[in-house]
Amino acid sequence: MKTITIPTSLPCPSWCTRPAGHGFDQADVEYLTRAHTAAVTQLEIISVEGFSSHVTVGIMSVENAVDVDGPVADLGDPNVYLDADGDFTGVHARQIAAALLNAADVWDEATR
Ligand SMILES: [Zn+2]
Repeated sequence: MKTITIPTSLPCPSWCTRPAGHGFDQADVEYLTRAHTAAVTQLEIISVEGFSSHVTVGIMSVENAVDVDGPVADLGDPNVYLDADGDFTGVHARQIAAALLNAADVWDEATR
């Protein structure tokens, strides 16, 4: 699948750590969509059996806009997200937990 980026002049929420003015990356019939993110941690975990797992933690809010320069149709508070698949050791679980705690701290700041 080809990734598209549609430039915009719309501002990001203050907590977003993506480059200012990052574009919309999806377009459907009704809206342009982009994801604002922060506190993103990506871990590659190799299990004792040698299997690789990718874990991503962060906070995210999806913005839907009617057109490239607005109006914004929907932009809610961010959520903490965890994208993980696999079996983990206690060491790995603590790495994931630390990333989640960091994301929770940033979420607290972003939703005050
Ligand atoms: Zn953003």
